[in-house]
Amino acid sequence: MLITFKEAAEKIKAANKILITAHIQPDGDAIGSTLALMQMLRDLGKEAQIFIDDTVRKNLHALPHFEEIRRPKDGEKFDADLIIVLDTSLDRIGNVSKLTDAPILNIDHHVTNSGEGVELYVEKRAAATCEIIFKLAGELDAQITPEIATCLYTGLATDTGFFQFSNTRAETLAAASKLITYGVSPHFISEQLEKKSLAEVRGLSAALNSLKMFYGGKVAGMFINHETAKTFDSTEGFIDEIRVIETVDVAFLITEKAPKVCRVSMRSKGVNVAQIADKLGGGGHIRAAGCTLKTTLDEAEKILVKAIGEAL
Ligand code: AMP
Ligand code: MN
Ligand code: MN
Repeated sequence: MLITFKEAAEKIKAANKILITAHIQPDGDAIGSTLALMQMLRDLGKEAQIFIDDTVRKNLHALPHFEEIRRPKDGEKFDADLIIVLDTSLDRIGNVSKLTDAPILNIDHHVTNSGEGVELYVEKRAAATCEIIFKLAGELDAQITPEIATCLYTGLATDTGFFQFSNTRAETLAAASKLITYGVSPHFISEQLEKKSLAEVRGLSAALNSLKMFYGGKVAGMFINHETAKTFDSTEGFIDEIRVIETVDVAFLITEKAPKVCRVSMRSKGVNVAQIADKLGGGGHIRAAGCTLKTTLDEAEKILVKAIGEAL
């Protein structure tokens, strides 16, 4: 069920013990928005705790209060009167849903989130969930400390490819500008986020070597098998290296995270890849979307290339 921004804010105001979560395979927006909201709520005198049911790529560990994020243990329970799910629909929060039966408030910016069976405030125009949390700070009268600003800026920067993608709006840059006046150091965040391990750069090299073109050059794909994938923790940015090929409309990367678990990332310059991902059980945005295919790498390639072909 869709609710308004004001209704979402009222629910937060009425709650006192709040569990915050975001999607598995968390990115800068998932970690930035949860950390920012946790600090805002604590400053307002509420109890707030983040649980995320996954490991987090190293670059994001430098964010303020990162060490307080917990991962649910088997059979663990957590006493809360509200769960806030950020930056995803409910199907990607892993075992966090088992921690409590508290009512759920979902805040997101993904076009594929329809809010089935949950109270959802979705702002599809927002470049990042962090853009919504920035606005929420105003509504809740929460002060934006330099630490909160750093978390929010990280989400804005990562979801917009450092303010380059088509989701970058005047409001996004206005928010980023305000955050800098609140104490963000953009170069510190960029330097943290651009760091890669040697294994990751070697992985990028292997991925580029696997490049295949389809449909007369309109589609470009890269592949990372499990053997290579297990040597590093993130493929962030890999796909951007082939998205730039001038003939390409859709770029994809398939990473075999575990045997028969293939994670798909897609980027486009026109085609609605959210629709393709949605059909394959995933989701995302018109120009950036993903899904997970539980098959071999070869099979995943066949399924994906066919689905993209149908959409072209
Ligand atoms: P990525 O390629 O991982 O950067 O993801 C691109 C966009 O698609 C992000 O907004 C993700 O949240 C979304 N996305 C990726 N994988 C999935 C999935 N399995 N289900 C739903 N959305 C996804
Ligand atoms: Mn995200
Ligand atoms: Mn996001």
